[in-house]
Amino acid sequence: MANLTRDFFIGLSNSRFLNKSAQKWGFRFGAEKFVAGTDIDSVTRTIREMNARGISCTVDNLGEFVSEKAEAESAKQRILQMLDRIHEENLDCHISVKLTQLGLDIDRAFCLQNMEDILTRAAAYGIFINIDMEDYTHFHATIEVLKTLLETYQNVGTVIQAYLRNAEAVMDELKDVRLRIVKGAYKESETAAFQSKAEIDRNYVKLVKKRLLGEAYTSIATHDHHIIRELEAFIEENQIPHSRFEFQMLYGFRQEMQYELAKKYHFTTYMPFGNDWFGYYMRRLAERPQNVNLIVKDALYTKDNKLKKEPLLTAALTASLFMLWRRKRKR
Ligand SMILES: Cc1cc2nc3c(=O)[nH]c(=O)nc-3n(C[C@H](O)[C@H](O)[C@H](O)COP(=O)(O)OP(=O)(O)OC[C@H]3O[C@@H](n4cnc5c(N)ncnc54)[C@H](O)[C@@H]3O)c2cc1C
Repeated sequence: MANLTRDFFIGLSNSRFLNKSAQKWGFRFGAEKFVAGTDIDSVTRTIREMNARGISCTVDNLGEFVSEKAEAESAKQRILQMLDRIHEENLDCHISVKLTQLGLDIDRAFCLQNMEDILTRAAAYGIFINIDMEDYTHFHATIEVLKTLLETYQNVGTVIQAYLRNAEAVMDELKDVRLRIVKGAYKESETAAFQSKAEIDRNYVKLVKKRLLGEAYTSIATHDHHIIRELEAFIEENQIPHSRFEFQMLYGFRQEMQYELAKKYHFTTYMPFGNDWFGYYMRRLAERPQNVNLIVKDALYTKDNKLKKEPLLTAALTASLFMLWRRKRKR
């Protein structure tokens, strides 16, 4: 059942039609709990609040799987504006980007040029840029683009997904590069990725421990308290300098735990913003189906807890999402 729910939301996250439609809807289904704002001004306010609590941020200008050059160009412009804002306001913040938003599916050279423009400005401001890791069909291209960029820039790193069978080998190749270690958020084949939670968790802990014993900076990105406690014990036992790692969590998740960890370690909150929220939000629901109650509540009730006048309309929309997903699976 858990796998079915996960597949359902990952299926929805990949629908180009729904992603495009959602940009016109505005935040729906409780998405505002996990998305820090629609524009640079609103996300800046949230960054300031987090910084005041001793928490760093990494912002993600939402958007992926872009197929028009003009769209990739405007995404780049927004990222450059965000860099200017971080610099002008001296925010404790770096940026996470997705290569498919910057044209990876259109033309590799174009995407590389966009990344160079971003990295040149970020380097002038002393800001780090993280390349998020997307689904496995983009994995090799992402690593190749990263390696090219590393020939010129030092302020760039990426993400290793512990569910991938080749994760350790690639992590070792990038042993001097700043890396974020995650479990992995997409649905991948058995050939490419471990499928069971136990195998993924085991590999996750193994990879992070190996990184912590090395020299390069590591972002430990998980909400899993069992794993966090085990890693805290490892850090203590091995006297790992706190300057060599940080914990990271997503905006809107486990807020109290974020504050608690930030008192002891360097801590960064991953903060998505923008109106292209659908794919990101559906992947979050896939990871934690308990959040589905947010959808139901948001669909049926207004902000002041009154029953909406059009629950039938919302029920019809939810049913059509389900039909669409089923049709897609049959194809
Ligand atoms: C900062 C950050 C950046 C990321 N970047 C990427 C990326 O670039 N590419 C990518 O593929 N994936 C990325 N991810 C997503 C990641 O791959 C996982 O899909 C996601 O983090 C879920 O795995 P988990 O380790 O957090 O915990 P899970 O395996 O989902 O949960 C483990 C256990 O932790 C507890 N738990 C988890 N969440 C909660 C909660 N909200 N409240 C209470 N208990 C909870 C529960 O007991 C649960 O059983 C990122 C995640 C983070 C935090």
